[in-house]
Amino acid sequence: MKLQYLGTAAAEGFPAMFCDCETCERARKAGGKNWRLRSGMLVNDTAMIDFAPDALTMVQRFGVRLSAVRDLFVTHSHHDHFNTADLSTRENGAFCVLKDARPMNVFANEAAKNRLDAYVGRAGCDHYLNVTTVSYFQTYEAENGMRFTFLPADHAPFEKAGFYVMQEGDKTAVYMHDTGIPPQESMAYLQTLSIDFLSVDCTYGLGNEEHGHMGVPAIRRVVEGLRQSGALKADATVVLHHFTHFCGMLHEELEQAVKEDGFLVAYDGMIVEI
Ligand SMILES: [Zn+2]
Ligand SMILES: [Zn+2]
Ligand SMILES: [Zn+2]
Repeated sequence: MKLQYLGTAAAEGFPAMFCDCETCERARKAGGKNWRLRSGMLVNDTAMIDFAPDALTMVQRFGVRLSAVRDLFVTHSHHDHFNTADLSTRENGAFCVLKDARPMNVFANEAAKNRLDAYVGRAGCDHYLNVTTVSYFQTYEAENGMRFTFLPADHAPFEKAGFYVMQEGDKTAVYMHDTGIPPQESMAYLQTLSIDFLSVDCTYGLGNEEHGHMGVPAIRRVVEGLRQSGALKADATVVLHHFTHFCGMLHEELEQAVKEDGFLVAYDGMIVEI
């Protein structure tokens, strides 16, 4: 399974769009891995999780081909994860020329679907997007044969936000964003798995948040819980992802802080093969 981080920041970007804080200043000067787009992941080049406002920049910076993406899995309706306006540029003939002009499959919760419907209005989008409303604990098959299971997140209480377990053959990857420590029913589900790769919400860096988003102390508890139950394999890759500048840390500082835990710190363009 090929997993590529396209963006690794929280909603405002890192350095943030309008920010004069010290961390953003330091990130601006340092450049490189400290410049983070809004979050999303490309899976095996043909499936994608979330559609950030920076999708165009991702395409231009990393040379990825979104025309090859057949299935888009959306975690929730927040704008940094679901940019309905740019999704409309997939309309074949109007904004692009597609070799494979079949509608792209979009899996999204009701709130995200409502946002999309409101954006496209009466014109609709059925001719270029095939939308399925996702339910918790349901598994959806992507055209590349992978299975995506939608689990409840501790995030955005006014909608059914979730995160995805991805399975291909005997490999299992979990993309756990945006969420605080996952609800008990999600943890119980995860404990039945044999996890090779875990990408965790680390919005607040070393901060103590455990609801809505996480920081390292909460992540350690989640990882420990999954290890103790035997769900997280001993050689599993654990990656921290989705950072806000309010965490106060640059990429290398975060790396240093979690070195002994064995956690990797995601950066834009990073590819993990499991
Ligand atoms: Zn987010
Ligand atoms: Zn800032
Ligand atoms: Zn969110």
